[in-house]
Amino acid sequence: MSVIVTLEETLSNKIAAGEVVERPASVVKELVENALDAGSTRIDIELEEGGLSRIHVLDNGTGIDPDEAEQAFLRHATSKIKNEDDLQQIKTLGFRGEALPSIASVSKLTMETAQNHKAGLQLRYQGGRLIARSRSKARQGTSIVVEELFFNTPARLKYMKTVNTELGKATDIINRTALARPDVSFRLVHNGKPLLFTNGKGDRRAVLYAIYGKQVAENMLTVSRSSADHELSGFIAKPEVNRASRHYMSVFINGRYIRHFPFIKAIERAYQTLLPIHRYPVVVIAIEMNPVLVDVNVHPSKWDVRVSKEDELLAEISEMIRDRLQKETLIPEPIESA
Ligand code: ADP
Ligand code: MG
Repeated sequence: MSVIVTLEETLSNKIAAGEVVERPASVVKELVENALDAGSTRIDIELEEGGLSRIHVLDNGTGIDPDEAEQAFLRHATSKIKNEDDLQQIKTLGFRGEALPSIASVSKLTMETAQNHKAGLQLRYQGGRLIARSRSKARQGTSIVVEELFFNTPARLKYMKTVNTELGKATDIINRTALARPDVSFRLVHNGKPLLFTNGKGDRRAVLYAIYGKQVAENMLTVSRSSADHELSGFIAKPEVNRASRHYMSVFINGRYIRHFPFIKAIERAYQTLLPIHRYPVVVIAIEMNPVLVDVNVHPSKWDVRVSKEDELLAEISEMIRDRLQKETLIPEPIESA
């Protein structure tokens, strides 16, 4: 008997899941990204117990051809890239073909998908194994229900935090995605209670209102700037609307929420001298640039990126904000007549 063996697919998927599926919020992120890549204009997310007991993501996107649906659960199976050239210019949020097999391997997953209002397909997986396949009703789009996440990985399950903490992390991802994509309508419900609704009409200030409330939304200034390589736009808060954490700054590149500290530092530099120590602004910056200049293949979670000519981009961000803040303080508020 040989000592070195290739692991069975279910087991290797479960190992890979360790990197992609950290907690309920990672499942939400992957499913919402898939919904966006499928061109959805409306995405409904329902969570139970912070997503620990149930996550349901329903979209109105392209759906999957019933003949190909099972393939979506094979590792490295993707419709988004085909060759090395495509890898150099990623235009979609996903491309690794790892999310569905990973999630399915550590949960009880039910997918329903239908195209062009033709009869759809329902697939049920448990711990990565297909346990049922049947026809489902005709509607456009895809519905994925993930139940009992980590039921078969007790070590990971033990590491989960409270319902509130898990809900907070999932909500954060949905909020930022809604800010990144004001053209898509998002609805988030937790334990039957509505937490967020955006109308998908493309108005980012309306999304700011839905997430951060009236006071913030009404005190945000619009910014924009373009250079040979970048198109920047977004909203920056007046200095008086500041927060005690860095949590309220979001940067998107080509519709993808990015956690890259140099961007945050560039924003802070622009507010320097305007904010008290340990206070941070509310800022949303959307960057559009040629995908060839961005490498998102840094980590399976795709949070971080490598950007070519990063220093120039950082300077553009700082200057855009600085200029706008300066303009704001130079032009005084109109004095109301008594
Ligand atoms: P990736 O997104 O990296 O391609 P996934 O494992 O997340 O890998 O999904 C595998 C494939 O399944 C996708 O490439 C896509 O073709 C299909 N798919 C997944 N979710 C959806 C969805 N909500 N709508 C349409 N197609 C989907
Ligand atoms: Mg994906």
